[in-house]
Amino acid sequence: ALQPKLDTNGAASANENGSLETAGQAERMQLVDEDQKFNSDVGKYLEKWHLADAGFAYDLCAVVGGQSTGKSTLLNKLFGTSFDVMNESQRRQTTKGIWMCRGVSMPVLVMDVEGSDGRERGEDQDFERKSALFSMASAECLLVNMWEHQVGLYQGANMGLLKTVFEVNLGLFQASKAKNHSGKDKTLIFFVIRDHIGATPLENLRATLMADLYRIWDSLSKPEGLETSRIEDFFDFDFTTLPHKLLQPQEFDKQVLQLRTRFTDRNSKGFIFKPEYHKRIPADGLPRYLETIWEQVVTNKDLDLPTQQELLAQFRCDEIASVAFGAFATEIKAFRKPIEAGSVLEALGADMGTHRSMALAKFDKEASRYHADVYKKKRVELLEKLNAALSPFFLGQLKNLHKAILASFKKSVLGRLKGDNYDFAEVVEGEKSKAELTFRAASTAICLADTDWTIDEELAQFNEDVTQIADQCRAEETKKMVTQIERTLKKEISEPVELALARPGTDMWDKVLRSFSESMEKAESSYLKKAKSFNCTEEENTVALSSLRRRAWLALRAKVDEQTADTVLMSKLRSVFEDRFRYDDEGVPRVWKPDDDIDGIFRQARDETVALVPIYAKIEPTDRNLAVSLPSTSEDPAHAAMVERGEDEEFDFPSTLNLFSETRKVEVANRFRKEADAYYVEAKRSMVSSIAQ
Ligand code: GDP
Ligand code: MG
Repeated sequence: ALQPKLDTNGAASANENGSLETAGQAERMQLVDEDQKFNSDVGKYLEKWHLADAGFAYDLCAVVGGQSTGKSTLLNKLFGTSFDVMNESQRRQTTKGIWMCRGVSMPVLVMDVEGSDGRERGEDQDFERKSALFSMASAECLLVNMWEHQVGLYQGANMGLLKTVFEVNLGLFQASKAKNHSGKDKTLIFFVIRDHIGATPLENLRATLMADLYRIWDSLSKPEGLETSRIEDFFDFDFTTLPHKLLQPQEFDKQVLQLRTRFTDRNSKGFIFKPEYHKRIPADGLPRYLETIWEQVVTNKDLDLPTQQELLAQFRCDEIASVAFGAFATEIKAFRKPIEAGSVLEALGADMGTHRSMALAKFDKEASRYHADVYKKKRVELLEKLNAALSPFFLGQLKNLHKAILASFKKSVLGRLKGDNYDFAEVVEGEKSKAELTFRAASTAICLADTDWTIDEELAQFNEDVTQIADQCRAEETKKMVTQIERTLKKEISEPVELALARPGTDMWDKVLRSFSESMEKAESSYLKKAKSFNCTEEENTVALSSLRRRAWLALRAKVDEQTADTVLMSKLRSVFEDRFRYDDEGVPRVWKPDDDIDGIFRQARDETVALVPIYAKIEPTDRNLAVSLPSTSEDPAHAAMVERGEDEEFDFPSTLNLFSETRKVEVANRFRKEADAYYVEAKRSMVSSIAQ
């Protein structure tokens, strides 16, 4: 088969040597067969003819006229088509039906009609009417082929057919024309008068035919709304003659070639395919359109072209959209696995945008040629479908971003908090705003335009999570700080407590508590100074300070316990006793003499020492102002909650003041007395031995 070449404009290039015979012929097809069945292969032929992607850059031309008036002969000569021609010697019958072929070197589809030689006139008229109707609905130009001697025969077959054509046309556009006849969708009726002898000039023939046409138009009963319409509202008319093919073969060929340029050369005077004749059916929709039109014609349904075009637009836009979406769906599949696996695709936003634009561009390229409103509506539908298909990736990536950036935030913060030399608030605030910025940028990048997607909610949730982690870090940091302050305080109170408890007396606890209060004050101000730089809340401060006080108090108590443990306490008592019993008021060791009142001195030293036991037994300053008072767990809801969570022990302040039970007091006193007795015995013994010497 010949493959005609189109120039860049999609227009046919002129045949250089002008010889149709050497140009070759395109393969024809039977569009409608003898049984009036439509051939669904037409789409394949359009591909073969390189017209499937032509959009509007193709033309369609059809012919009507009596049987054996040289129609096929003319078409083949004009367009280089390969329609069957009646064999002159054998008078062999051609195959009935509607035939279609592509013009050679021009983007023109040509339709030829083969009747059945008028033997069964009724049947033939029916087919002729149907094919004329079919041609009117699709062709830009309807060639009316007739012999010269038929001109003026108003009752002739041609005029009957034209009457049908006009009637049918009124019906075709009835719906739209009645409302708004733009005059932009006319059809050209081109009379080719064959076997022109030349005696009657073309002008006269034209006048005769026009008069007939007006008469026919006037005789038609017009549908509502079109009563006053004129024939020119729907049709342009043109006329040409051709000499006798057999009597003047060279002249015939010459004039046919001249006529041909009117179909091929857009710049030629009298160019046939004016834009306003085009039926505006994109080439890719033509198969469907022609088939639907033929079905309507065959089943004698009312043909309403504007409605047909809208239906075609819906059908084709859906088809085009589904092809575009199919390719798109395959392309975007690659996103699924990594996103489901938790990965963050760096270029996801750009990639999604590209795939979507590509799908829309594919759709626009073909669908934009169809009915504007339908196209717009279908485009919105497609966009929604594309967005819906992309949405899971958007949401998935958002989730992954959230997780990944949150994790890296936590890692960076903890990493920077490892050393000693850092400003906590600066670290956390810095990392926080960095993480929030990163998340905002990354999520904005995947939030495509022309969607109803938003990142606000996710952003708010992210900020909340970041803040929560920051709060956790601060709580840890505060705990660390409190521990450190506690340690310092412990060190500080150690010596004063040891000293105070080593020199017992009634103001012993005053000394202990004064030193405790001083250290506590320092600890608190040290806490508050740091807490301020952490941006701790008032509530956090309250909790931390009360915890600090409690722990400091327990530390003090532990120190006191250590200093009042049995052996330590006993040695303290012993030491006090010894000072009083074995040394005189000047601190000089006594050497017992017989006159000495050992018993009296002993009793006094012992009793004074025993009297210290109750002082040791309870933390109680003589100066009321030095008394410490802390809330017990039952009075402190925050601490109660901590105890509930198992984070701390129950704290009962009053019980921490009591160091010894009553029993221990008695035990300690008894034990001490026994030790003191030993001293007494030893003293007596030493005196006896000194006397003995
Ligand atoms: P169709 O049935 O209208 O398609 O006619 P064909 O093209 O098959 O031609 C029918 C017969 O008319 C053939 O024998 C042709 O040779 C002959 N023919 C074709 N063109 C002309 C012409 O211009 N004048 C005359 N007199 N005969 C022609
Ligand atoms: Mg024919």
